Formats: sequence, structure tokens, C-alpha cells
Amino acid sequence: MDHNATTPVRPEAQAAVMEALALVGNPSSVHGPGRAARRIVEDAREKVAELVGWEPSGVIFTGGGTEANNLAVRGSDRGRVLASAVEHVSVLDATPKVEEIPVDESGVVEVEALDSMLSAGGAPALVSVMAANNETGVLQPVAEVSAVAGRAGALMHCDAVQAAGKMEVDLSALGADMVTLSAHKIGGPAGVGALVIANDAPVAPMIRGGGQERRRRAGTENVAGIAGFGAAAEAALAGLSDFARLAEWRDRIEARLAERAEIKVFGSGTPRLANTTCLTMPGVAAEAQIIALDLLGVAVSAGSACSSGKVEPSHVLQAMGADKAEAATAIRVSLGWDTAEQDIERFISAWAEVRAKMGGKDERTAAA
Ligand code: PLP
Repeated sequence: MDHNATTPVRPEAQAAVMEALALVGNPSSVHGPGRAARRIVEDAREKVAELVGWEPSGVIFTGGGTEANNLAVRGSDRGRVLASAVEHVSVLDATPKVEEIPVDESGVVEVEALDSMLSAGGAPALVSVMAANNETGVLQPVAEVSAVAGRAGALMHCDAVQAAGKMEVDLSALGADMVTLSAHKIGGPAGVGALVIANDAPVAPMIRGGGQERRRRAGTENVAGIAGFGAAAEAALAGLSDFARLAEWRDRIEARLAERAEIKVFGSGTPRLANTTCLTMPGVAAEAQIIALDLLGVAVSAGSACSSGKVEPSHVLQAMGADKAEAATAIRVSLGWDTAEQDIERFISAWAEVRAKMGGKDERTAAA
């Protein structure tokens, strides 16, 4: 139940990886084996491009979503970087000078605030707003944000790592100049991702020393990883309508837990990914829930991060104005392409068991 962290590698992707590993060639070599490897990379590029409705020539393969976000933020080298307060840390920490765009209590970016931040003037800007949040699943009005960014002459980047393969993502409709993708969130291997660049947006390489990836990312391509990414992209695109049906199970989880306790579901009043829910178990620290659920064979993650021994609610929930104590009891449950109905029932009964054992107690007692 932690597919937003990583989702199982799809059989098609496993097969593509194995097939690519059996080859010898370097895609930059002009001989036969080199050309065979190049073919694999270019086939995958087409499939990844299709996932976001763009041309293959815009796809720059990277070593994952984190690297693609860094490439977008640092490679575009704008004087100002404005990012939503709920972005993944790979955007927020990519450069020290990020200005945070506030979100409302549903976790949706405040477009008017962005507009006034941009009209304050200053250096040319990059705006970075994600398509869907990894912790809450909340969707952002990216097209609207792009329009505001475009009017101010800013470049627009969208981290679509969690949205791609889970809902339709169309680069033109988003109006973005750059879109980040990651293979292991859609059923490909970890450690491979892409920055899809539209209309030749100006992005300088971070990794230099070779002409690969149109001079934007030097180094011999991860042929097997890229092959797996391509196969996963194709399968995820074909499975979009199945994925949308996960909303029914997510809603069932929320409804059944609400019968047992006064839970809070973050972002529940606004459009969200079909597979994600971020919810509280009143009075029980997220860490205690995770350990207890793990003992029952159920994997979820926390809506909070542990820094220097002190559990702090996540920056996402804090930006949404969440009460700190309440946010410290939030876990993220995320379903995936291979989730079965029995997983939902098993989660609900495990949650009820943990709640019966720990519910309502002081957090420290519960954790002990
Ligand atoms: N962006 C978002 C929204 C994510 O959820 C993640 C991973 O959790 C990343 C970026 C980073 O991707 P990767 O794990 O491929 O580096």
C-alpha cells in the first residue's frame, strides 16, 4: 500500500530490461551492436514521449526524477525560482534561492499569489508546480499556472512524477516548457527518469563530458533501465482507465475507516489522484502506525518526517496549514497497478486492529 514510494516492476518492463541486458552494444557506437542498443533507447524514447503526448526529440533520459528536477531548476539557470510550497524536495532543495508559492488548506497552489509574486518583477523566472502531490495526491491547476507564468515571461516546469501513468498527462495541455518523469513510479526500474523539454526550452547540462541526450546529459545511456522505462510507459498508458477505477477502493478505505474513528483525510475536498489517500489515526503517531502495520504485513508511509530525533509533520501538510499534532498522526496509503481487492480488505482490518490496540492513547504510550 505504498505505491507512491515505488511500485512493482511490471512484467513487460522486466522482460524489456532482461532483453536489453543480453545485448552488448554502446548506443553511441556506429557498428551493428551499437545500432541495436541505439534502437532500444530510441524505441523507449518514443514510448516515454507518448506518455505525455510529446515528440521523442524532447525526451532527455536522466538517472531518475530527482536528477530531472535538478536539471530543470538548475539547468534553466533563471535568476528567480518560484515553486509551490508542496513540491518534492528535489525541486525545493535544488537551489538555495527557491521562493515558495503558498497553497490553500486543500493543498492547491494559490495562482493569484503567484501572479503577484511574478508581477513584482526582478530577474527572469522559472515557475515549478507539480501535477499531483506525492503525499496527498492533490492535483494542481497546472494549465492555469502555466498561463500566468507565460504572461510574465517565465519558464514553466511541471513535476509529473506522480501523475504520469496514473491519469492523462498532456504536455501541450499543461502548457509546460519542461515535465519531469520517473520510471519506478509507473512500473519501471528505479534510477531512470526523464526531463521532457518542449520547444527547445533553454536547459544547460549539469553532467558534462559527452554529446549524449542532445548534449543535455552526458554519459553512456542506461540502456536496460531506459528499455524498462519505455515498456512501463507503454503499459501504464494502456492501463489508465483501470487505474482510474482505484478511486473506488480509495473511497472505500476512507469510508470504512471513518466508520471506526474520526479520521481526517487531507485534500479530500479537491481533485486527487485515484490511488492516494493521506489520513490520520486520531491520537496515534504515524511512526507507531507504520511499525504496527508492518508487523501485520502492510506497508504504508508517514505523512511526516523524522529530523534530529523529533518527528515533524511533513512540509506538505504544514503548508496546508495542518494542525501539527494532527498531521503527526497522518499516514499515506497509495494503491497501484497490481493492487487487488483483497489488499483493500486486508488493509482495513489491519488498520482496525492497530486502532483497537493503540487508538486514542497518548502518542508516546502508543509508540512504546
Ligand atoms: N518528484 C516527486 C513528486 C516524487 O514523488 C519523487 C519520488 O518520490 C521524485 C520527484 C523523485 O523521483 P526519483 O525517486 O526517481 O528520484
